[in-house]
Amino acid sequence: MIEYPFTWAPGWSFSRMRTFRNCLRQYWYQYYAPRALSGHEKMKVQELRSLSTVNIEVGNAVHNTIAEVIKDLSLTGRFLDEKEVLDIAENKFRVLLANIPMFEDRYGRPISDERIDKAVRKVRTGISAFYSSRWPALLNDVPLSARGEWAIDPPGYGEFRFEGRKAYAKPDLVFKAMDGTWHVVDWKTGRPDRETDILQVQSYMYFTNVVYGIPLENMEGTVEYLAHPNEDAVTITGELVDGLELHNRIIEDMDAIEAMCEDVEGNVPVPVERFTKVETEMTCGRCNYREVCEPNVRQTKLDV
Ligand code: SF4
Repeated sequence: MIEYPFTWAPGWSFSRMRTFRNCLRQYWYQYYAPRALSGHEKMKVQELRSLSTVNIEVGNAVHNTIAEVIKDLSLTGRFLDEKEVLDIAENKFRVLLANIPMFEDRYGRPISDERIDKAVRKVRTGISAFYSSRWPALLNDVPLSARGEWAIDPPGYGEFRFEGRKAYAKPDLVFKAMDGTWHVVDWKTGRPDRETDILQVQSYMYFTNVVYGIPLENMEGTVEYLAHPNEDAVTITGELVDGLELHNRIIEDMDAIEAMCEDVEGNVPVPVERFTKVETEMTCGRCNYREVCEPNVRQTKLDV
């Protein structure tokens, strides 16, 4: 078994693979450019890397608020009042949007007050959808003494070792319900993409099995579409998760990531030219690195 040092070596994660599959050049900008470039170019890439979007911040606001509510429940045994939570989340969200560098501003699409109000409504809808879902009752049933084992939006990047290689996974919530089922829950606020979302929650279930040792057959994975309350949640029981297939898929992904390295252990990439540009309106229209990459596509007005 290869044991790579944790500090270097490329790591696998579901979101990293999304970037990798979307466009290899984008993957290079995201993970290698800050080390490969210097001076003004490096500063520019770092600025672009830190850009957020309204939709990303909607997701963060909903995720962070729910995590705080559940953490509070695990410690104090009581649910924070929904109205108070909504008002605090809205205030924080408005302050944040006014103070962080935004993709929309950088790429000449200033965020209108109307757009902000729409995003605020989405944050409130997402949080309210959690309060009216089945999760508060399921969580509340668990005795206070057993709530210490809940994994609620674990801190950091969720690093772990997978067959001696570096990997990352961060399920939003893992807890054991009173009927003995371990729930692995992923909150979503973006547009449903059921095929990808189900794969993601399965990879979290597999992670929960590998890292916490919980048997797959005792698990149920759920994707909740909080900002789209009319969309049914995706639910999959552990018996339906093909552990071997997931294992092979992750290994294949890791091999693909490592194939883009000249020196895997030192995480030194192959020459940048091998990181092919995809150049489609869809990918480039949502890419932070358009300014430095200068793709050969016309400017689009995608909802980022
Ligand atoms: S602008 Fe387009 S081609 Fe360039 S890195 Fe981004 S997605 Fe890839």
